[in-house]
Amino acid sequence: VVRARNVHKAFDRLEVLRGIDLDVAAGETVVVLGPSGSGKSTFLRCINHLEAIDRGSIEVDGEQIGYAWRNGRLDKLSERATTLQRRKIGMVFQQFNLYPHMTAIENIVEAPIGVHGEKRAAALEHARQLLDRVGLSAKADSYPAQLSGGQQQRVAIARALAIRPRLMLFDEPTSALDPELVGEVLSTMKDLAGQGMTMIVVTHEIGFAREAADRVVFMDGGHIVEEGRPSDVLGNPSHPRTRAFLSRFI
Ligand code: ATP
Ligand code: MG
Repeated sequence: VVRARNVHKAFDRLEVLRGIDLDVAAGETVVVLGPSGSGKSTFLRCINHLEAIDRGSIEVDGEQIGYAWRNGRLDKLSERATTLQRRKIGMVFQQFNLYPHMTAIENIVEAPIGVHGEKRAAALEHARQLLDRVGLSAKADSYPAQLSGGQQQRVAIARALAIRPRLMLFDEPTSALDPELVGEVLSTMKDLAGQGMTMIVVTHEIGFAREAADRVVFMDGGHIVEEGRPSDVLGNPSHPRTRAFLSRFI
């Protein structure tokens, strides 16, 4: 589903990504670990072209988000065309970013109806299924302020799923939550992974990586330093920087 090759990204003179190669197969859950500033968020933002890359390529489902081949040339797409193309990708951030003046279900149907032109009745029906899937059937008509942080984040996950993405990107989805609310969000994400969704998850939740990841990637200094099965990378890291990073969690 994802094929990243030699991805470079700099902000002015700061090189944040220095040649990232990553393949993610359909149905795979990849957890990305790494210290602060290692480029994890930047990499996710490059995948859905919220940031343009300087060098290399990132394909999602065989397309480079933001670009299209025309007459043998890779042309830049308009903002509108890029938005439509981003339908392949759902993204969940640390901050839930729900619209405060809309109920849970209105938040979920906003993009399918407003951006992708789905019929309201069909979008609402799908939204109810998604609320059920994240365990919030009873909260369809609640406003974000009436929901706990964990419930808001589960609504945000349902909202990301509403566009029927091929790929879900999570950027520290539980970092802003009170500790007692982390479990319900991780459990929703585990269900999603178990149902065959393709996911890239940036998180410091080592337990989630151990239980839900097919593969763990450790990033440092804009490089992928080490990757492999969770039991190998977490249990027996081969790189000193991975070891140093993990030692903080034990
Ligand atoms: P964290 O664990 O703290 O979230 P991260 O691995 O997600 O870190 P990034 O957010 O990708 O790291 O940032 C990598 C580097 O790029 C940092 O030094 C950051 O300050 C810098 N950076 C990120 N976005 C921008 C931007 N839009 N303009 C300038 N510098 C940026
Ligand atoms: Mg980050």
